[in-house]
Amino acid sequence: MGLHHYAGRLFAAGIFAVISAGYAEEDHRELGSHVHGRATLAIAVEANSVQIEFAAPGMDIVGFEHEAETARQKRAVETALADLREPLKLFVFPETAGCTVTSAEVNVIAEDDEHHDAEAETDDTAETEELDDRHAEFRATYALACADAAQLTSIYFPFFDRFAEAHALAVTIIDADGQSSSDVTSDYRHLER
Ligand SMILES: [Zn+2]
Repeated sequence: MGLHHYAGRLFAAGIFAVISAGYAEEDHRELGSHVHGRATLAIAVEANSVQIEFAAPGMDIVGFEHEAETARQKRAVETALADLREPLKLFVFPETAGCTVTSAEVNVIAEDDEHHDAEAETDDTAETEELDDRHAEFRATYALACADAAQLTSIYFPFFDRFAEAHALAVTIIDADGQSSSDVTSDYRHLER
C-alpha cells in the first residue's frame, strides 16, 4: 500500500483526464489537417469502465464534407449518425467482456460551423461555392460498462463494412499497463492486444 497504492489511484484517475485533454487540443486544430481515409479511435480502460473517443473525416463516413444539401445527402448523414450511436456493432469486443453502452454522443464538427448550422434551412444557393473546401468530421464519445474488462483482448472492426470509404483507423488503447497504438485497415480489420 502506501505510496504504491497512491500512485495506482493517481494513474487510474489520470487516464480519462489524459484522453480528454488530447481531444480538447484537437478541437483547436484545423480540421483541414485531418487525413481523408484515416479515422482515429482512442480507448481508455479503467477497471470495468471504458471510454472511447472516435473521430473520422466526413469523407470516410458519408463521402463529402460540405453541408448536406440534397435529400440523399441529408439521409446519409442521419443514417451515419444513427449507426455511430451503436458503437458495439462497429467495434466488436469479445462477448466474454460483457460490455454494454451506457452513453453515446455523436456529432458532426464542421469548419465555419456558425455559418452552416445543421438545423438551418439552406434554400439560398449563394453560399454553396464556399462549402466545397470546407472540412468536417464525425466525432463520437462513448462510455461502456463491462462485466470483465480484462477480457478485452481483441477488437474486430465491422466499421469498415459499414463505412466503405474508411480505409484506416488509428487505434490507441490506454489502460493500467500504459498506452499502445496501432493501425487497423480495411484489409486487416482485427486487433489483438
Ligand atoms: Zn476533410
